[in-house]
Amino acid sequence: MGLRTQTQRRASCVVKFVSTRGHAVSQSATECLLKSLAEDGGLYVPEHFPKLDLARFSPDMSMAEFGAELLLPFFKETELESHIRSICEAAFNFSIPLVETKVGRNLFVLELFHGATAAFKDVGARFLSHSLAHLGQSGTVIVATSGDTGGAVASAFANRPGFRVVILYPRDKISKRQEKQLTSWGPSVRAFSVNGTFDDCQRMVKTALADSALSKQHKFISANSISIGRLLPQVIYHARASLQYRARTKKSATLIVPTGNLGNAVAALWAKKMLFPIDRVILATNANRTLYDYFESGRFEVRTARSTLANAMDVSAPSNFERLAHLYPDFETLKKDVMVFTVLDSEIEAAISSGVQTYGHVWCPHTATAVASLEKAQSTTHQIDAVLVATAHPAKFETVVEPLIGNTVQVPPLLAETLRGSSVSVDLEPDFTSFKRALG
Ligand SMILES: *Cc1c(COP(=O)(O)O)cnc(C)c1O
Repeated sequence: MGLRTQTQRRASCVVKFVSTRGHAVSQSATECLLKSLAEDGGLYVPEHFPKLDLARFSPDMSMAEFGAELLLPFFKETELESHIRSICEAAFNFSIPLVETKVGRNLFVLELFHGATAAFKDVGARFLSHSLAHLGQSGTVIVATSGDTGGAVASAFANRPGFRVVILYPRDKISKRQEKQLTSWGPSVRAFSVNGTFDDCQRMVKTALADSALSKQHKFISANSISIGRLLPQVIYHARASLQYRARTKKSATLIVPTGNLGNAVAALWAKKMLFPIDRVILATNANRTLYDYFESGRFEVRTARSTLANAMDVSAPSNFERLAHLYPDFETLKKDVMVFTVLDSEIEAAISSGVQTYGHVWCPHTATAVASLEKAQSTTHQIDAVLVATAHPAKFETVVEPLIGNTVQVPPLLAETLRGSSVSVDLEPDFTSFKRALG
């Protein structure tokens, strides 16, 4: 292909983002990085998906190479276009391997937990942080966390000049090691321990972001999983893993994704939409059954969040649901591409207990929901060619995991480093007025 045609072809697929609710002006990806919600209260989604030339992608490419190729159409003609490669190189500074299990050659594990805070949230948080730095931004990154987002965001922004971080987390509903990752960064990261649920934290953050005076005063930047800056980079590892899986098995993978706010699973579906070889996406949820019931009844009914062993998924109102519904306006098509299972704590425990013997892996409680979902899916369908998406390292949840496997879990060096810091947090009631006062 000549240079000229290539340029034309690429220029023709500049992707704008529109609101799921359809009443906001379209924006470029770079503009979306600086916003949270669209003006009409919806979430940004690509207006169309770029027609990628899949021949340009190889399973052997690094995350940075693969990522730059995949994301370029989204950042074309924006300030970040010429930086996307170096942003990917800086952001993806850890390995994301597709690892075999001992049950047979068609079941693999995508290990997303080798970054600084040992959960997949490092991917999006680091990409967002490097992108904002390239844009010369500064301000207060505000985030509600069900366990892992806060740590990843704190780690990605803590030493960046011009940035502060505000984290809200539900008290006593996250693991001690997760809490340490939120609270031990020094004065540039303020952690609020909220006497409530993750949904309370999420609501308070949304209210803060919607309060334009407060937003202006603190220069708020959202880093929740609704942020395009977190969602887009997550597409990369699903896409890359699907090609690696096909190279190794000659099959298209079903991706089994531990799901809370639906960010990771929507990213997987976006990769499928861009024609990477993904057969289906299975949403593995814990006892919070909003999505499960929705697939059964077609009705989206939010209940109070329940605390489970897979605490980073204790979400009753998944914030990316609008994106899922927007991607699949037809319920029957949705049910063809996507399945959902709900997994009880007892089933999480059983999956962890038998993990080493059956699969040769130690599972974290979140990844265990994917394993239990696979087993449920296999009991009805003959054989599933699957990738289990491993969202966190088991060492973050040692008090759950170690008694079940009867062994200690080795702590990765970067996690060990964070755990050595001292912890500071501020107690908060779950109402916006208290939060506003505490922010000062
Ligand atoms: C955040 C998180 C999830 C849920 O991911 P969503 O994108 O919110 O669906 C699953 N597992 C772990 C370990 C997490 O930190």
